[in-house]
Amino acid sequence: MIDQDRYDELISFQSHAPGYWPESAMATWQDHKWQLKNRINSLAALEDKINLSREERSGILLSGNKLAMSITPHFMNLVDKDDPGCPIRRQIIPRVEETWDDPAELNDPCGEDSHMPVPGLVHRYPDRVLFLVTDRCASYCRYCTRSRVVSGVGEQTLETQYEAAFEYLERTPQVRDVLLSGGDPLLFSDGKLEKIISRLRSIPHIQFVRIGSRIPVFLPQRITQELCDMLKKYHPLFISIHVNHPKELTEEVREALGRLADSGIVMGNQSVLLKGVNDDVTTQRALVHKLLMCRVRPYYLYQCDLIKGSSHLRTSVAKGLEIIEGLRGHTTGYAIPQYVIDGPGGGGKIPINPGYVVEHTDNQVTLRNYEGKRFTYPEPSQIEAPTV
Ligand SMILES: *Cc1c(COP(=O)(O)O)cnc(C)c1O
Ligand code: SF4
Repeated sequence: MIDQDRYDELISFQSHAPGYWPESAMATWQDHKWQLKNRINSLAALEDKINLSREERSGILLSGNKLAMSITPHFMNLVDKDDPGCPIRRQIIPRVEETWDDPAELNDPCGEDSHMPVPGLVHRYPDRVLFLVTDRCASYCRYCTRSRVVSGVGEQTLETQYEAAFEYLERTPQVRDVLLSGGDPLLFSDGKLEKIISRLRSIPHIQFVRIGSRIPVFLPQRITQELCDMLKKYHPLFISIHVNHPKELTEEVREALGRLADSGIVMGNQSVLLKGVNDDVTTQRALVHKLLMCRVRPYYLYQCDLIKGSSHLRTSVAKGLEIIEGLRGHTTGYAIPQYVIDGPGGGGKIPINPGYVVEHTDNQVTLRNYEGKRFTYPEPSQIEAPTV
């Protein structure tokens, strides 16, 4: 079921520096500020490095008022120079297909805007909130579920009211878990981030804080020892990273994740199932195995949200189920993410699983295992066991 040669190629950790920047000194390369300043954000800068297809060239020209293009040099080095089908290219280089909206697509596919008690704070589930602290990222993913506000070039802007959000959390004792997201919170300076985390941790009913970030993958240079030393003062702290393809786990990324793990931060990964990027078992198997080697537990595999202009990146639910089938039982249980669909319009994350329950009656459940073999498990007997 898996292509062993391709798996062997995908599973290795590589460094691609300096790649398209042969003239840069190592000290410069390792400076995250240099990486941010030298991001690729124009057609001319991109064409200077790689050969673009017509679909990409038009996509870039038309993306300016929807979701900006921006690619860190580190991530750019993962891009294949000549192949428009390259799984890294498809994630961060706009294509003309983005300008076409499927009628089922939505501006706010997860219905977040209607669940904000305070601008920037999404309170959908009873005991936890999503706190959108910024609209900027190190690079922009073409399928971003929050592309309506992220990158700052679209029609809508994110107007987070920090003080009102903190006050809401202070007077809402049922919230015990705060997820910082955006945009990417790790783009903030250590000082600014510390102000937010320490304020949250000073609220007695908030049991823990977590951060959703793609910075370890787009900009591993940002994961400095100083950042880790600051973060570890606020345990328990969890970080959810976002990796879609095994090639994204480079040597530098593995080292950055190692620094976070050594600081005691618990890490999970969220992937989005994307057509032509990671919609096959071999790629997913290499991805989840590399994540475990980086001390990151696969957390969620998302069916791609119905974001406008994403139809060329979406794949079928059957494909997602086939991938989970191809992992469960065949590999380490820790390696298997939960496949979810965010209910369009605001249903929240809904788990979807291959059907391992064949039949369930009052008396027994009939199951099938990963090899397709059948088993029955009797329900507890209605007749009480005799006592002495
Ligand atoms: C994803 C999400 C969360 C966190 O969900 P978990 O399943 O606990 O990781 C919280 N709030 C919102 C609005 C979310 O979209
Ligand atoms: S890093 Fe996250 S928030 Fe930023 S563009 Fe990608 S998916 Fe969107």
